[in-house]
This record gives sequence, C-alpha cells and structure tokens, in this order.
Amino acid sequence: MALSGIQIYKMLPQTNCKECGFPTCLAFAMKLAAKQVELGSCPYVSEESKKQLAESAAPPIRLITLKSNGTEVKVGNEVVMFRHEKTFYNKPGLFLRVKASDPDIAKKVAQADAYKVNYVGMDFTLNGFAIEADGDASTGSAQVLSAAVKAVREVTKRPLILIGSDAAALDSSLSLLVNESTLIYAADSSNYESLADVAKKHKAVLVVKADSLDDLADLTQKIQAKGVEDMVLDLGGKNLSEWLARSTQARRLALKNFKPLGYPSIFFAAQNGLDKEAVYAAQAIAKYAGFVVIDTFAPEMIYPLLVLRENIYTDPQKPIQVQPGVYEINSPKPESPVLVTTNFSITYFAVANEVEGSGLPAWLVVTDAEGMSVLTAWAAGKFDAERIAKAIKGFDVASKVSKKRIVLPGHVAVLSGEVEEELSDWEVRVGPREAVDLPAFMKQALN
Ligand code: SF4
Repeated sequence: MALSGIQIYKMLPQTNCKECGFPTCLAFAMKLAAKQVELGSCPYVSEESKKQLAESAAPPIRLITLKSNGTEVKVGNEVVMFRHEKTFYNKPGLFLRVKASDPDIAKKVAQADAYKVNYVGMDFTLNGFAIEADGDASTGSAQVLSAAVKAVREVTKRPLILIGSDAAALDSSLSLLVNESTLIYAADSSNYESLADVAKKHKAVLVVKADSLDDLADLTQKIQAKGVEDMVLDLGGKNLSEWLARSTQARRLALKNFKPLGYPSIFFAAQNGLDKEAVYAAQAIAKYAGFVVIDTFAPEMIYPLLVLRENIYTDPQKPIQVQPGVYEINSPKPESPVLVTTNFSITYFAVANEVEGSGLPAWLVVTDAEGMSVLTAWAAGKFDAERIAKAIKGFDVASKVSKKRIVLPGHVAVLSGEVEEELSDWEVRVGPREAVDLPAFMKQALN
C-alpha cells in the first residue's frame, strides 16, 4: 500500500538538514511519495523506517530481466507517466519473431543478429528473438520447438522469448536454455496453472494475457499465489487505439501502486497487418511497452525505431555527450586547421561526420559545454571565451600544430573578440553556421 507524503514524513528524521538536496524533510517526503527520488538520498533514515518505507519506495513497475549467456535485457522499474516528470529508465526490448517450423530460421536469425548500426557514437542492435511454436509444435510436438531453440542458440547469444501454449513443449525447450532467463508466452485463464509450474521450474518470466484489465489483474494474483513473481502483461485490445488506452490505464494504475498490474507489457507490432508494423511498434515504444515484437527484419524500419527508443529513453536532464578533448579527423598534420565545437553528441557527430566525409584533415577541439549544442550552450553561459580558451590551453593544442589558428562555429561569431583576448597569440576565425558547410569553408578560407 502506497504511503502518503505526510505518512512518509513522520518516518523521516525531521531535522531539515538539506543533505538530500531538498530544503525540508517534508519536501523530500513529498517527492518520495511521488516516486521521484530514491530513499537512499537521505542518509539518516533509521533501519526500522527503511523497512516500513521499502514497499512505498519500491518502483511500482517490477523490474524484469531476460538473460542469456551473452546479453541481458532489463525492462520495467519505471516511475512516471511522462518522461519530462523525471525520466524513463529501461528501454523496451526489441525482439524479432521467427517461426519454429521455418527451415531458414537459423539463417534469418543470424542475419538479424549481425545487424548493428551506430548512432552518435552508440551501437544499436536488436535485443533478442521470439521463437513461435507453429505447425506441429503448436499441436503438441516438443521436437519442433526444441530443434528451433537449438538452431537459434547456435547463431545468437541474445535473450529469447518462447511462444506457445503447450506446457510440455515449453518445458523441454527451456531445459535447453540453462542459466538463462527466458520469457514464455502466454498464460491465460485456461492454462495458467501448467505454465506457472513451467515458469517456476525454469525461473522463466511468464507473460499473462486476458481480455480486460480486470481479468488480467485477477490472473496475475492467481499466478503470484502459485509462486511466480516475474510476469509481463499482454494487454490485448482489438486495435492500436484500444491497446494504447489499456497501456495508459495499466501504467496509471501501476503508478498508484496497484500491484496486480505493476508489470511491464509486451506488444506484437505485426498483429494487425504488416503494412502498419512500424507505426504500431513506434506507438508501443512511446507508450509504454516493455517488449516490442516485430515480424519484419528490415534495417530501414528498425533503425528509426531504435533511434526513437533512444531519444525517448534519454534522461532529459542529461543530454547525450562525448568526452571533451582533441579529436583527430583524417590523420591531421601540424598545419591542419583547429575546429572548435561543444560536447553535445549530435553536434559533435554532425561536425565530425562532415569533416571526415570530406577527407580533409582537422583537429577538432571539443569543449565541455555540459552536453549542450552550440547555441544552447552559448545562451546558458556554458560555451564562452573563457571555456574555449581553457580547452585550447588545457588540451595543449599549441603543441600539436604549427599554425595557431582556431575556427569558431558561425553561431557564436559574437565570441570572436573575447576569444582573441583570451588567446592573444592565436588567430581566431569564424566558420560557417552549419556543419554541412565546413568542408567548403576549409577548402576556400583556410588555405
Ligand atoms: S537528508 Fe533526510 S534528514 Fe536531511 S532534510 Fe533530507 S530527508 Fe530530512
């Protein structure tokens, strides 16, 4: 049962020491009740109070971890409805569904497993594979599913979802996945007892599905009573609109500490027709799936989904950054130009990619602007003449070059006079406003 801010306040030391970052214990208690801070931020909570507060402080959506011998996927543990209230923590796992009876299953999985794309310095991949018992397997033959699991395990180390209603087939396939945490799909009112036994035996995570949120809540409690703690919800729904409504309601109820729905959900993006698969998957990533299963392996569809996911799950208070320093592009020589930018990842990669693509060598000095883009950092006072000079001196750029000349981004031309004062022995030039114009500027203006 969730505690109110006042109830939590009564268990705090009430000294208003401010060490938690809040001016009073009451302010901290209110944030704790809203699940926007961690109890650990107050170092003075008594052991007895900690115990009492544990349930209230626990994330309202259970953390679910799928593990294999290679990688793991964590979902859940979310504490807010909207990203701007705090942040979303664990990105939904993106899984590709394959059919157990497909003779090309290993080839298809190997191809998708090898897919890797770089986005502003981060490597993105699929998170795992969902093997669906179809054909003979669905009618009770364990061999087809087991053979598919073996074939898939030979070509990927990523976590798996096993889809099927035959408890015996799932049981024998899970026996092949020793020391792994696998998701099995799906228990409903007709088979939950046998599937709960299988999940318990193999320490697997169990998907629970029902036709309404009421039935779902009823079923998760029954399964929990059988000793299964790790569950994922299939929210059902006739169409995307209904699924979205249920997903939102389930998240809202979970955040109010309604434990029977306090689990991540799974969504099958291709269930209503392949032509809308990308749209359905994007919707599920945004609100609020824990696992998104797609049927189509198409890089042109997967890449935007992965970028969307990354952007939604980036902490809005911590922009993605690169390490400040001097980056060498195209093997620069002492006479190569020195370009200056900020450490916001997208800014860095925009500049670095343009210069790299041009084949022109350059030294790229990345200043610490707390992860902001050029104009934002300048407006916030995080990218000024002092910081630029500090970076040039601190990274000892003078020792690398024969010509002391730096190029400022065109958007901060206004800083050039101040930079000249700070770096009196350097020539200061103003470059173009957009990274795309850098190669032409370097060819024409820097010779
Ligand atoms: S650190 Fe603890 S005791 Fe100090 S103000 Fe915060 S909640 Fe109160």
